[in-house]
Amino acid sequence: MIIGILKEPIDEARVALLPEAVKTLISWKVSVWVENNAGSSAYASDELYKEAGAEIHQRAEILQQSDLLLGIQAIAEDEIAKMKPSGVLMGQLNALFNPELTNYLVKEKRTAFSMELVPRTTRAQAMDVLSSMATVSGYKAVLMAADLLPRFFPMFMTAAGSITPSRVLILGAGVAGLQAIATARRLGASVFAFDVRQAAKEEVLSLGAKFVDVEGATEDKGAGGYAVEQSAEYLQKQKDTIHEHAMKADVIITTAQIPGRKAPQLVEERTVRAMKPGSVIIDLAASSGGNCALSQPDQTVEVNGVRIVGVGNLAANMPQDASKMYGKNYLNFLKLIIKDGNLNLNFEDDIVAGTCVCHDGKPVNSRIVQMLNN
Ligand code: NAD
Repeated sequence: MIIGILKEPIDEARVALLPEAVKTLISWKVSVWVENNAGSSAYASDELYKEAGAEIHQRAEILQQSDLLLGIQAIAEDEIAKMKPSGVLMGQLNALFNPELTNYLVKEKRTAFSMELVPRTTRAQAMDVLSSMATVSGYKAVLMAADLLPRFFPMFMTAAGSITPSRVLILGAGVAGLQAIATARRLGASVFAFDVRQAAKEEVLSLGAKFVDVEGATEDKGAGGYAVEQSAEYLQKQKDTIHEHAMKADVIITTAQIPGRKAPQLVEERTVRAMKPGSVIIDLAASSGGNCALSQPDQTVEVNGVRIVGVGNLAANMPQDASKMYGKNYLNFLKLIIKDGNLNLNFEDDIVAGTCVCHDGKPVNSRIVQMLNN
């Protein structure tokens, strides 16, 4: 069986598997073909892949010969068409939000797996690329803010006077938010955090941050630990509370998302205008509508001296460890579908079925089925 690894598009510095992960894969009695220069942006040379036991090939050969094609970003339809009919496509295909591609895969009777669909269950935790990449984004967002801020993060007592610690407000205390809290605390900032889920409060406090309470949030125990949409009345109350905290903050990092929906708007224009000049907002939800009214995806906007950075794929800014984590998640998933050096797709397994976009001309993941029926 041949497993192919393609070079990602120009704006994607990560690679699906680094050489160390390739070495593990090869010990499972499979061949790994890597596109030339696939790992160069993550500082993994073709030589290192060869030392790990991989073969270096041209893209066209990999597309045509692979039994399993591993990537991060989705490849284009004309490239999918070049794969052999039984070839399985795997990546972060964003299948729920890309109906065109999903319909194409179903119509062409392709077998495809989309890593963002990995169920968020305890057993699947080691395969959860969303958590891994959110860890990278939360960490990097704080470093980016610290770099832009015209002040120190920690408190300093120096001969030139004392410096008070910066005040950081984190909105959304999920995986990215908790990592942002931990990173900002390590840098010595005074951290406040807010989430609609009461379960997040304990985690926020355990990281040494203060929890901003806004009573009256709607929670749904059936939502798998995720947030649900809030009432207009609650959202207004929340915006007012955030407004009060934002005026005292030096940095705001927003991470609030609701799966399958537009991100909630938490920071209004009046709030940005009320903030101290020099403050920085990093909006990690910019690509799904933004938590800040003024943020623009992949752009930095400045209003009254407040810089609002709308970040998209922040994980690609730290390609080495992001690829390492991605590869580990992949290996843990591949353990479920590779037996004795061959593909063995057991759709009775909830993780295999939950991650599968389509097989044999039919959608498999229940949310994909629902999306295509609507
Ligand atoms: P996410 O990226 O969907 O959202 C980020 C955070 O934003 C969440 O904590 C959410 O509650 C919060 N949020 C949403 N709307 C908000 C609003 N109006 N105001 C303030 N905050 C708001 O979520 P995530 O970080 O991927 O994960 C959230 C939760 O999912 C985790 O804390 C955990 O309970 C669960 N989870 C489980 C697993 C697993 O078991 N494998 C893995 C990852 C996450």
